[in-house]
Amino acid sequence: MCDIGFCQVNIINIQLEPHTQSVTIVSNMEKTLVLLKPDAVARGIVGEIITRFEKSGLKLIATKMIEPSEDLANQHYPAGRREFIEGMGHKTLGSYKEQGLDPHKVFGTDEPHAIGLQVQHWLVDSLTAGPVIALVLEGPHAVELVRKIAGNTLPIKAEPGTIRGDYSFDSPALANSEKRAIRNLVHASGDKKEADFEVNLWFTDEELHSYDAAHQNHMTA
Ligand code: GDP
Ligand code: MG
Repeated sequence: MCDIGFCQVNIINIQLEPHTQSVTIVSNMEKTLVLLKPDAVARGIVGEIITRFEKSGLKLIATKMIEPSEDLANQHYPAGRREFIEGMGHKTLGSYKEQGLDPHKVFGTDEPHAIGLQVQHWLVDSLTAGPVIALVLEGPHAVELVRKIAGNTLPIKAEPGTIRGDYSFDSPALANSEKRAIRNLVHASGDKKEADFEVNLWFTDEELHSYDAAHQNHMTA
């Protein structure tokens, strides 16, 4: 048995009586992956960052420090996921255009997928640059909530009060000119599907813990 707000099932259908109506309760229970990237660990702000997630009421159900292998980093940022790679290429092209730079000079092409593949190497390099702290957070709307607390991907655009807005000023202009990933301190799963994939990529089932948080009934009952 579990409390309704903290059940693993997203939609619970309760049959009241035979032949009478049923009640559907949507709990939006989710797990999501957070990585405190090498820049966050090196800067010694791991505690600050984790505190922000804890304060939201989300439950920390797994954590470990790990030096990601190139293989793990390549699975996390998959070169074979066309949509992700092309999106990265388009974004990079956009910021080069904004700066009035010619993508041909840096990448030898202006084709989004080909550029995205080159940027993917920067992402793998940045994730394997040192130890990371991996976390799984659980709670209603966990994916959206964690993204909100993390802030905009680009620290220069992230609001004050968010992790990326408060602790970084990095921008595409700086990062692209140095041919590296933007240093934005945290990774947070982008949507529910990505979260399910990433939680399973970084943690085994045995590493995901189950316990009653002191506040959970006060926040969801
Ligand atoms: P996220 O989900 O907010 O982390 O953003 P994405 O999934 O779109 O991008 C993955 C990572 O790529 C980001 O966290 C940044 O470290 C990096 N990144 C995103 N956009 C850019 C960019 O325009 N230039 C560079 N150099 N890196 C970027
Ligand atoms: Mg992402």
